[in-house]
Amino acid sequence: MSPLGTRPRGAATANAVAGSVEATVELDLVVKGGTVVTSGSRFAADVGIRDGKIVRLGDGLEGAELVDAANMLVLPGGVDMHVHLTPAEVAEGTFAWADDFLSGSRAAAAGGITTVGNMTFPRPGEGLLGALERTAVEAESIVDFVLHPVLLDATEDAIAEVSLLPAHGHRSLKIFMVLTGFDANAEAFLRAMQEAGQAGVLTLVHCEDGCLVSYLAQKLVSEGRGHASNYPAARPVYTESVAVSRAVAFSEASGAPIYLVHISSRAALEVAHEARARGLPVYVETRPDYLHYTDEKLAGADAALYTGVPPLRSEDDRRALWAGLATGAVQTCCTDHAPWLRAQKLDPAVDVSNMPNGLAELDIMLPLLFSEGVVSGRLSLERFVEVTATNAARLFGLYPAKGTVAVGSDADLVVWDPQASTTIRAEDAFSKADYSIYEGWEVKGVPRYTISRGEVIFAEGEIRADPGRGRLVWCDSVAAL
Ligand SMILES: [Zn+2]
Repeated sequence: MSPLGTRPRGAATANAVAGSVEATVELDLVVKGGTVVTSGSRFAADVGIRDGKIVRLGDGLEGAELVDAANMLVLPGGVDMHVHLTPAEVAEGTFAWADDFLSGSRAAAAGGITTVGNMTFPRPGEGLLGALERTAVEAESIVDFVLHPVLLDATEDAIAEVSLLPAHGHRSLKIFMVLTGFDANAEAFLRAMQEAGQAGVLTLVHCEDGCLVSYLAQKLVSEGRGHASNYPAARPVYTESVAVSRAVAFSEASGAPIYLVHISSRAALEVAHEARARGLPVYVETRPDYLHYTDEKLAGADAALYTGVPPLRSEDDRRALWAGLATGAVQTCCTDHAPWLRAQKLDPAVDVSNMPNGLAELDIMLPLLFSEGVVSGRLSLERFVEVTATNAARLFGLYPAKGTVAVGSDADLVVWDPQASTTIRAEDAFSKADYSIYEGWEVKGVPRYTISRGEVIFAEGEIRADPGRGRLVWCDSVAAL
């Protein structure tokens, strides 16, 4: 049923022909001498790989190829279920993020991420399944990927497609409460969410109140306060928390599980946490910039460089998100990678009502979270793995093929050097974004090798993968957390 996990026969044959495979061992690749870390354990083991899957964990394994992991950690590759990569063809006049699937997936691989989930927008007149099929063909990803169809218009036709998604290997649906079409047709979106829940599809919800953020932005512009330095006033915390309250109520009314993308504030997190405490299937994602910066960065002339939706928040919010990651109130950290060029961000013609929001995070999310989380003592190694790989894999129906290091799982691994330090430079990144908000940050802990279904796709700073080798992942039934 799943298209995953079977390596092209040609690749396996090539390795066998290359020689040195003992008939009794028959391993294509061994990741040797490292410490394997999963969400629940850590142990010294070689990882033996054949046909793209982990087939053995143990001592003294030999294979056709070796990756030396001495003094390294061997982690499941990151599972980042929130990216915005531009498909190959973009209609005239529509905006496009700086990264396509090729550059974005190279950034992912260099950053230790082996599976991405892309927000997939139908074109005018195109259905959900049509958008998914087109994007799957266009995507030249080098890592495996999931496609989340975006429900822009909750038409009867689109709602009817929701229940068909699982039969095509899709288990997710994205809704933007912030878009003006949401309030105008909220009852239809609620029915779509109900259909999703009944079909075993997880609804991702962008929680900001569209009416409020539109009203506030227009008000600021009309007062001559449209500059990005007024961005926090355009989208204050209450515009997020009120939307989270409503999304939770939608979940409660419909019985549908919901995944709240990019939660940024203590108030929003508390609403979600209270819902979870009552047993509602509500899951929380946060994003790197909220962990590493506060709204201080939105005060200056270059504020626009730091804008995503929702905006950076206070130090108290930042602390709440770190605490949530550590204690379990936040289930995943994903990038929401939505990169732009510096000139686009700083275009004097844009204001708080229409600015290009989003940040480049794929190259650096894991090193930053490791450095600021694990090295700084905020997160255990196991928890790091859980929030960057295992939980997302479980929630989106990818586990145990993805999100863990176990016999039978896909050999999606990152060999992590916990001692090495590096300085973040946009010019070193594989993303096409030409700046990084983290320029000059020193981080400790870097990916040395990234392995996708048994193929080393990133090694010692270089990408070693052909465009399009990544596959659309078939999502099986989603798990509750
Ligand atoms: Zn997003």
